[in-house]
Amino acid sequence: MPLFLRQAVVEIAYLGPEPDRWRSPSEFALKNAQEPDHFIDLERVSWLDPLPPGRYEFYRKLYEKRAATTDHPDDYLPERVGLQPYITMEVYGRLKAAFRGYRQLRAAHQPTAAVQQAIIFYAGWLGHYVADGSQPLHTTIHYNGWVGPNPNEYTTEHHIHGQFESAYMAANLKEKDFAAFVKAPARLSDPFADYIAYLRKSNALVAKVYALEKAGGFNGKGSPEAFDFTAHRLAAGSQMLLDLWYTAWLESAVPVPEHPPSTPPSKSAAPSK
Ligand SMILES: [Zn+2]
Repeated sequence: MPLFLRQAVVEIAYLGPEPDRWRSPSEFALKNAQEPDHFIDLERVSWLDPLPPGRYEFYRKLYEKRAATTDHPDDYLPERVGLQPYITMEVYGRLKAAFRGYRQLRAAHQPTAAVQQAIIFYAGWLGHYVADGSQPLHTTIHYNGWVGPNPNEYTTEHHIHGQFESAYMAANLKEKDFAAFVKAPARLSDPFADYIAYLRKSNALVAKVYALEKAGGFNGKGSPEAFDFTAHRLAAGSQMLLDLWYTAWLESAVPVPEHPPSTPPSKSAAPSK
């Protein structure tokens, strides 16, 4: 990958929390538009597999479902279900397009400083959502306290989300604790489908987070089991981000077809009916 990106560690780290700086009521339109980007309640869309590759088709399917639902229909509003994979692929697309511009300027022996800044911004911004996706509680209706039938008597208090991802994390884990679990990046064959699979894997670990909490694993210094679990989640997020950066870079070398097909190329896309 280009050296300038490898040297932008400080900028990329600064940009990781950038979308959390867009939550102030003093910028209402921004706060309102972007809050659903941080999560997706996968249980609410179990009937929609594969997920459509574009956000507007996703909206349409949800509104159809809402219209056909009598019990809590508003649970299917797009902003309630969450738009995690859509914003992620949109920022990924911006990064890939910027890489393509960088390659073109380089080939034309033109200055690249401006596009380099754009690439660093997109790479850092992307990191936020990919990291959110590694946290199981960003993929579930149980995002901050168990809801509905609760045979294992998991906590229904609204504290587990912050306790796990902020308090416990900040006090107990460092980069060196998970760096060894992160491998060299791999090219993703279908970034949208691969990203959805990543979110589903994270969602499969929701009960595990609650079980760890119930056992006191996130209190104070926590338990060895909670430490191991958290280190592997951090590694999974880092790996997916690396793989998306690397794939965007490689894919940016692929020439854009002169007459692009009107349907998206994602292998996960169902043929439109
Ligand atoms: Zn977030």
